[in-house]
Amino acid sequence: IQLEGFRVLFISFFCYQICEVLEFKTLAFALRIRMANLPILQFEDKILETVNQNPVVVIIGETGSGKSTQLSQILHRSGYTKSGAIAVTQPRRVAAVSVSRRVAQELDVRLGDEVGYAIRFEDRTSERTCIKYLTDGVLLRESLSDPELKQYSVIILDEAHERSLNTDILMGLMKRLIRLRASNLKVLITSATLDGEKVSKFFSDCPILNVPGKLYPVEISYSSEQPKSYIESSLRKAIDIHVNEPEGDILIFMTGQDDIEKLVSKLEEKIQSLEVGSCMDALVLPLHGSLPPEMQVRVFSPPPPNCRRFIVATNIAETSLTVDGVVYVIDSGYVKQRQYNPSTGMYSLDVVQISRVQANQRAGRAGRTRPGKCYRLYPLAVYHDNLLDATVPEIQRSSLAGSVLYLKSLDLPDIDILKFDFLDSPSLESLQDALKQLFLIDAIDENGTITRIGKTMSELPLEPSLARTLIEANEYDCLTQALTVAAMLSVEGTLLPGRSKSSKSTEKKRKHPPSELPDGSGWGDHIQLLQIYELWDQTDYSIDWCKDNNLQVRGMLFAKDVRKQLSQIMQKIAKGSLDVRRKERRRDREHDYKNLRKSLCVGYASQLAERSIRHNGYKTLGFKSQLVQVHPSSVLREDEEGMLPNYVVYHELISTSRAFMRNVCEVEMQWVTPILQKLEKLNVNKLSGGSNQPVENTQEDQNIPKKEGLTDDSSSRIQA
Ligand code: ADP
Repeated sequence: IQLEGFRVLFISFFCYQICEVLEFKTLAFALRIRMANLPILQFEDKILETVNQNPVVVIIGETGSGKSTQLSQILHRSGYTKSGAIAVTQPRRVAAVSVSRRVAQELDVRLGDEVGYAIRFEDRTSERTCIKYLTDGVLLRESLSDPELKQYSVIILDEAHERSLNTDILMGLMKRLIRLRASNLKVLITSATLDGEKVSKFFSDCPILNVPGKLYPVEISYSSEQPKSYIESSLRKAIDIHVNEPEGDILIFMTGQDDIEKLVSKLEEKIQSLEVGSCMDALVLPLHGSLPPEMQVRVFSPPPPNCRRFIVATNIAETSLTVDGVVYVIDSGYVKQRQYNPSTGMYSLDVVQISRVQANQRAGRAGRTRPGKCYRLYPLAVYHDNLLDATVPEIQRSSLAGSVLYLKSLDLPDIDILKFDFLDSPSLESLQDALKQLFLIDAIDENGTITRIGKTMSELPLEPSLARTLIEANEYDCLTQALTVAAMLSVEGTLLPGRSKSSKSTEKKRKHPPSELPDGSGWGDHIQLLQIYELWDQTDYSIDWCKDNNLQVRGMLFAKDVRKQLSQIMQKIAKGSLDVRRKERRRDREHDYKNLRKSLCVGYASQLAERSIRHNGYKTLGFKSQLVQVHPSSVLREDEEGMLPNYVVYHELISTSRAFMRNVCEVEMQWVTPILQKLEKLNVNKLSGGSNQPVENTQEDQNIPKKEGLTDDSSSRIQA
């Protein structure tokens, strides 16, 4: 009997294996049939011929024509991967992961082998990888250790129309690289809507290839007036389509995750309330940048039969990700955009009107497989008169400190940052703002020359303030803590419900952390993040502990991974110039977290604020003084005597209903004084030019913090 049982087991296992292989092959076969229909493949010969003859080619093609998934494969097939890998950059992390997964499937290989991806803090590539999808930020970082990017034979800057800050900088860099490696590097710039002429001109009139997509006609209709609530209008329109229109998926453009979640639950509720059998089945799916991988897969899986999908997406579905099966598009006409104001150092996350180019892209999503319909929830007059022609490039609405540090750290002799070859130049004001910030945190000296500290900072995949904090923390023996804070800040947005959001609704609520969670001991948010992680560490990284404390497990695990990577990078840097003290396991038991707070004060030297009782808030110190408040989500509160700290540093300034400091930490006056003195020395005109070669023993090098005896500070709190 045992033998028989064993035989049955063996045969079942054998059959299972055959089925697995068959299923896999069938999937690959089905994919190949679908791929064959992609417009770009009909131009394979023309593309190869043009690429063979030119170092730079611009390729314009309708979204979904196959640029992201097929170009790399075309070049791979024709042998370009024999002399190096193909890099395909994506402005969004989620697109890099999703497209690489798709290409691995199409080529029938395991993700991470021949096809892989690299995004910040996550590298899924191996020595065998010859097609690598990576974020534009990761490619910039790679160019620091390998300035000529010699491992690549082809670099494809995909989604260039998004005009992300990093892609714009990469374009400038490619121009230089082409001069250096004209014989063995091909650069392709691909875009759905980009002004091809402009890019071609930028690259000495390189050829432009247009890949005509087969878009079916899309009937566009407009609302008679601006809706009071675009969530409610979208809901009504979507249900109206579901009840009255023939089959076909509905793609609804919302502005962000909050709106998406609201609309998804309203839609589900409404669909449930429809009479059974009155219309086909329905499936409501969200689609945005921070969607967990298992949810992304659902969006790309074929829908069940006789079922209409409602895909509620951010502008990620405009061009970055193509969802098949869409016939109806509902366009709210808005997008959430982060804007930086260099004169105030303030970020605002604004819901703004989309551009006409975006509106047309959105409409186009309805006509990919058959004639479709697009419902614009705004009047035709708004489309014509109010919408901008094209979206303002990110370089003109971002803080440039990180990018300027990057450019300064490239060993390009005598580069004048103010004259760098940008496709669209940022404003002088924002470049100067970046230079001032870098000067205050010792990354450049008063002549604009990068210092040794600046060089070290550029090796860390962190924003300049946090990179500087880590270097300082190493000097003050609290690197262990600072690594945790930096890692936790990089996931903080997804960690605690209510911590991240800057929406008006959360402003009203003060954060009440679950009772078991620490509260930063009165020092502020950075310390709270540290304490949370340390508690978790003590539970041996228990998943249940995260769940019990209402913390996102995925976020915490990611923080752990980020922390490990940052620690490794710091160890590697140690081999060069830094003396990383090997105190990884030592837990600093200081109750006042003085060393850590002091390091934060140095790192955030350009993000300081002083208590202003008269205004019942704070005044930022530095280039421009302005009134700000501690964000209601902060754990920094008045103490029992109603006192608030005299001085704080903040992670960012955001402007919503008022100007708020997010993630705040108390610092001491005697740490602030030298920063203010340094500010007085600042001459912005001298900062912009200069050689980027680090000068031996510059003043800033000597400024690497010495371990002066730390004086005990008396409390710097004043009556609120
Ligand atoms: P483009 O870059 O021109 O917008 P893509 O190469 O991204 O076009 O898409 C080509 C086709 O591949 C589309 O039909 C799209 O739906 C499909 N596709 C792309 N990425 C994925 C994915 N991650 N999963 C499933 N299908 C995908």
